[in-house]
Amino acid sequence: THQVHIIGGGLAGTEAAWQLARRGVHVRLSEMRGGADGDRSPAHQGDGLAELVCSNSLRSDDDVSNAVGLLHHEMRACGSLIMAAADKARVPAGSALAVDRDVFSAEIEAALTAQPTLTLARERVDSLPSEGLTIIATGPLTAAGLADSIGRATGADSLAFFDAIAPIVYHDSINMDVAWRAARWDKGAEASFALGSDGKDYINCPMTKDQYLAFREELLAGEKTVFKQWEANTPYFDGCMPIEVMAERGEETLRFGPMKPVGLDNPHWATAEHPNGRWPYAVVQLRQDNVLGTLWNIVGFQTKLKYAEQQRIFRTIPGLEGAEFARFGGLHRNTFLNSPTLLDRQLRLKSAPHIRFAGQITGCEGYVESASVGMLAGIMTALEITGGTWAEPPRTMALGALLAHITGDAEAETYQPMNINFGLFPPISGKTPEGRKMKKPDRKVAYTTRAKADMAGWLAALGAGAA
Ligand code: FAD
Repeated sequence: THQVHIIGGGLAGTEAAWQLARRGVHVRLSEMRGGADGDRSPAHQGDGLAELVCSNSLRSDDDVSNAVGLLHHEMRACGSLIMAAADKARVPAGSALAVDRDVFSAEIEAALTAQPTLTLARERVDSLPSEGLTIIATGPLTAAGLADSIGRATGADSLAFFDAIAPIVYHDSINMDVAWRAARWDKGAEASFALGSDGKDYINCPMTKDQYLAFREELLAGEKTVFKQWEANTPYFDGCMPIEVMAERGEETLRFGPMKPVGLDNPHWATAEHPNGRWPYAVVQLRQDNVLGTLWNIVGFQTKLKYAEQQRIFRTIPGLEGAEFARFGGLHRNTFLNSPTLLDRQLRLKSAPHIRFAGQITGCEGYVESASVGMLAGIMTALEITGGTWAEPPRTMALGALLAHITGDAEAETYQPMNINFGLFPPISGKTPEGRKMKKPDRKVAYTTRAKADMAGWLAALGAGAA
């Protein structure tokens, strides 16, 4: 008999299984692919564990100035199987960690099946187990029966089947000489410039009529990605129609939708006659995306535009000329929970704490991020069994920043899957060790330096048994 049931043998499930099995915990790992029914998600091609469904890259391995490279570093320090397999399966790709996907998958399967306390079951699970420690790591394309069961346990609005990702920009890249901060119908310039007055205000980017019409033309002409075959028949839901589809519906549709200008006096356009400024012809609004206030999403701008086109076109928005994007917009099929409301800080379902979630279903995004959340879930569960004490990674670490985002820092209302990025870290400002004012490259180095320094304390706090 097993002590922990892990459902899903992808990036997160295999890493969680490894962290448990190597600590001597008895694990049943259920993976539907390779079973008698021939189950397979529409994105998976084979039956190997931890299949990389698309790119063969685990992205940057630069742990000095890159957030995902830092995550690699932290995972290696925790004895990650995914990272060990990637290092063995590595193929040349400059500073990126790219792998031979078959070698990668085979390494993981071999390491796991060599663990005496692990049972690999090729079976599909169709409902949430009512008891026993469980980790759900079934990913963005969770099979329908289990997805229904999760939906019933969490409430209809708490499980999304599509991510409608609005682009996110770094706050410090927005030009506030052009944009301004205000809620609709805010009265007067003073209120408009007040910072964080009620957490409900927006950063507003004004457009004249000519700018609006030109912007709409760009949206219509911009190069788009196409839906995958299995996504194409999924209808758009309210609130997640791509911005370019709205633009197609008519010249005024956006102006009556996400780009509505009413009630938004632009104080930069104040005159003697209009001391509070005037309403622009159209307004692009950005909403705060994390507690730290470092990330802002462009409201209603989910899109199928290609990334390069998003950068080019969205930088024509007044105030966003120099925008740096923490995440581009998108629209994909993706099953994920509203984790900030549903999960506790140890990834447990608040309403059924024997169940943990891990991987992309928690609302992280990416192979490495998914594996890292699987790793944390594995360590947490192991400590629960052995009576050890879980220590939360400081949010100055990539692991801590990601976990904090998933379990509470993110805005629950607009929660969408997120890659690791420095915008999730507590900001750093000030001077370099040499006494210069910090520029962006300096800050990146400062983030990773701080993370590595803080990691030592965290590993010690977890104790020898955990790390
Ligand atoms: P998965 O790796 O998908 O693992 C889930 C596992 O659970 C699967 O093996 C599945 O067969 C199994 N399963 C599902 N339901 C059940 C059930 N009921 N019972 C038993 N087993 C079940 N990220 C990147 O970093 N780079 C990319 O290029 C990239 N491309 C992507 C392309 C697509 C089409 C999609 C959908 C996602 C992509 N991602 C990419 C995002 C994401 O990081 C990966 O999907 C990643 O594999 C998620 O890891 P996971 O462990 O959460 O889920």
